[in-house]
Amino acid sequence: MTDRRDFLKASLLATSALALPRISRAATTVSGSVPGKVGARVVSTWDFGVPANQAAWAVLGKGGKPLDAVEKGVMVPESDLNNHSVGRAGYPDRDGHVTLDASIMDGDGRCGAVAALEHIGHPINVARKVMENTPHVLLVGDGALEFALQQGFKKEHLLTPESEKAWHEWLKQAKYKPVANSENIDYHRSVQNLGMPGGKNNHDTIGMLAVDADGHLAGACTTSGMAWKLHGRVGDSPIIGAGLYVDNEVGGATSTGVGEEVIRTAGSFLVVELMRHGRSPQEACEEAVRRIVKKRPDAAKELQVGFLALRRDGECGAYAIQKGFTYAVCDMQQQDRLLASPSVYQTTYT
Ligand code: ASP
Repeated sequence: MTDRRDFLKASLLATSALALPRISRAATTVSGSVPGKVGARVVSTWDFGVPANQAAWAVLGKGGKPLDAVEKGVMVPESDLNNHSVGRAGYPDRDGHVTLDASIMDGDGRCGAVAALEHIGHPINVARKVMENTPHVLLVGDGALEFALQQGFKKEHLLTPESEKAWHEWLKQAKYKPVANSENIDYHRSVQNLGMPGGKNNHDTIGMLAVDADGHLAGACTTSGMAWKLHGRVGDSPIIGAGLYVDNEVGGATSTGVGEEVIRTAGSFLVVELMRHGRSPQEACEEAVRRIVKKRPDAAKELQVGFLALRRDGECGAYAIQKGFTYAVCDMQQQDRLLASPSVYQTTYT
């Protein structure tokens, strides 16, 4: 099974290089750690982090603010209609509503977030407005939509025909089961119009962290959450300290995977605190994953969680429960690097 999957992944990645010229290299190197002291750097989750990083780099590489860079960066997968786990074309909940979660945080502690937001394709922009234009951190549901409209955002219809078709397929059995990972197969499959809407994967997130040459950081995190979730379900991504945490004194962390597990362990805050107390970004991600596995060892065999961390000197680390988590790294030296994260388990469950 693993061989077949590996073969499938290899051929999908090979053909997708043609379909997606901006993702120029496959994640062939397994590495959790990339040394720092490189000046500015931006890192993000999954293969779709590569084009997202490039958009962020267009800001950061010119000396722009990390906060502006991460906001611009994550807007790329948010508007990608082939991406069914983030933004506009996200898979809906079990009732057919596309509800989006997003958060943004500056290394000085300012942050904003929206959860279960409907009808707005770029929830990250609304999260930033929450941060800048309200005394609050998190707005949810109808209140978040009302605020967005007051701020001048336009209401959109987010359920694309392809996502609607996948939802109807799902309704035939209507069984909720988070399917890790991904290995980004669903993304590549849909990009190439290979059919099978609904694909294998039914959740992912873009989490992005950026540091400038002076060690100032920012992060952004945005997702449509778990496909076919209960209406009103909120994941880790808009919860500051769970899906995202950034502190200029230390570094930042972000997560992807089954958000309930990340919330239970205050995952991203934990990673940053471990770094504060001397762990490397890699060691901190490993410890955060270990805590999840230790708490629920049986459940952990069948779910994916991945952490990505960036220290203020630019060193980054990544670790996941299952094989298949990838992350993208972009700096002055190389703008389209994609790496495979090490993991607890060496094969992906079926
Ligand atoms: N963390 C996201 C959520 O639970 C989903 C994912 O990243 O796979 O909503």
